[in-house]
Amino acid sequence: MMSKIRKSLSISSFAIGAVAGIYLAVAEVPLLSTAYAKETTEVSPVRARPRDTYYPNSEDLAPDEMRVIACGTGMPTTRAAQAAACFLVELGNGDKFLFDIGSGSAERISSLQIPYNYLDKVFIGHLHTDHFGALHDLFIGGALMGRNVPLRVWGPSGATPELGTAYALDHMQKMLTWDLAGRAGNVDFRGYRMDVTEFDFKGENQVVYEENGVTIRSFPAIHSIDGSVSYSLEWNGLKFVFSSDTYPNTWFNKYARDADLVVHECFIAVPELVSKMGFTPESALLVGTQVHTAPEAFGKVMSEIKPRMAVAYHFFKDYDTTPAVYDRIRKTYDGPLSLAEDYMVWNVTKDDIRVRLAEVDHHTWAPPAAAPAEPPKPEDKTAMARKLGVDTIDFSEFTKSGFWNVDDVLRPIYEEASEVLGQEFPYPEKQ
Ligand SMILES: [Zn+2]
Ligand SMILES: [Zn+2]
Repeated sequence: MMSKIRKSLSISSFAIGAVAGIYLAVAEVPLLSTAYAKETTEVSPVRARPRDTYYPNSEDLAPDEMRVIACGTGMPTTRAAQAAACFLVELGNGDKFLFDIGSGSAERISSLQIPYNYLDKVFIGHLHTDHFGALHDLFIGGALMGRNVPLRVWGPSGATPELGTAYALDHMQKMLTWDLAGRAGNVDFRGYRMDVTEFDFKGENQVVYEENGVTIRSFPAIHSIDGSVSYSLEWNGLKFVFSSDTYPNTWFNKYARDADLVVHECFIAVPELVSKMGFTPESALLVGTQVHTAPEAFGKVMSEIKPRMAVAYHFFKDYDTTPAVYDRIRKTYDGPLSLAEDYMVWNVTKDDIRVRLAEVDHHTWAPPAAAPAEPPKPEDKTAMARKLGVDTIDFSEFTKSGFWNVDDVLRPIYEEASEVLGQEFPYPEKQ
C-alpha cells in the first residue's frame, strides 16, 4: 500500500548507512518498501520526462492547493547556505503570506520571482533578527522591485511597549529616514509605507487576520522573554502551523492539532553546539534544550499533535550534523518528517503532500509589477521635507558647489529616450 506522503528529499541528504533510499519513511510503512515505489515513466531519446524539482514560476497553483516554500531555515548566525527563518505560504485563492523574515531571506524570496504586490503580508513570531532581520530589505527592496501597495506586518506585543512589534517597526522606519528621504520624488513612492498591526502576545488562538476565506490565529510561544507567538493559518480545509521559536508548550499542543503541515523549530543537537559553534557545555545545554527545542523534544511535540507532515527547521543541515538531529527526533517520533533546508517546497492538498526542492535562478531581476507603476511625484519630496520640518531636502548650496558638469554626455541620454519612446523627457538642468 502506498503512502499518501510522497518523496521527501529532506531525507536524501541522510543517505548514509545501509539504507540510501530517497523516499520518506512514514509510521505505518517501513522505509525499505517505500524506497521501491518509483513510478515508471516512458523513456525516450527525444521526449522530456517529468522532473521532480520545483522551478519557480513554472507551475500553476491549483484552486484547492497550498504551496509552502522555505525561504530560510538556518540559525541565528549567518551562513551562505541557509538564510534565517522564513516560510512563504501560497494559497490557491491567490493569497500569499510570509511567516518570519529572518536575515538573508529576502534574497531567497526574490529568487521565487513573485510580483511584489503579492508579497505584502508578513507575520512575525518574535523580534529576534533571525526572524525579522530582512524585513527592511523586503520593505525597501520590494518597493523598488514593483510593490506599489503598503507592506502589511503583524506581530506580538511585549511585556512593555518598548518590547512590542509596533515599537520595533516604528523605529525601523525611523532608522530608514535618510533612505526614504532620498527616494521620495525619485520613484513611485506608494510602496514605501508600512501598516503595522500589533496584537496581544497572550492571546490564545486569537484571530489576528481574517480575509478572503483565510483565518490566521496566534497563540503564545515560550522563547527568550515574553512576547513570542506561534501562528496557525486555515483555509479551504487545510491548516498550516508555524512555531517561530518556542520551547515545547501546552498552547502549541492544543492549537497546532489537526494541522496538515506543522513547521516547528528544532535546534542543533547539544554536542554539535559545543563542537561546531564553540559553546561551553553549560551554555550549549541551556541554549540547546531550555531556550530552544531540542530534537528529542521536537519529536515529542510531533508525537503529541500528529500532523500530516512535521517540518523541523532552525539547525544547520550538513552531512555531519543531520544524522544526529534525525536520530534524536526518531527517538521520540516516527511519523512523516521533513528536515527543512532552504528552497524546500511542500505542495499540500487534502489527499497529498508532495515534498521537493526548488531549483532557482540566482541572477534574478525585478518580476513584473502586478499593478502599473506611476512616475515619481515631486509632491512626495515636498511632503518628506515638511515631515522633517525643513523647507527642502534638495542638495544644499555646499553640495551643489561640488558638481562637475557632465551635461554634455548625459543630455544625449534624455534625447535618445525622448526619440525612442516618442515622449519629451526634459533634461533636469542644474541651477
Ligand atoms: Zn528567537
Ligand atoms: Zn530563532
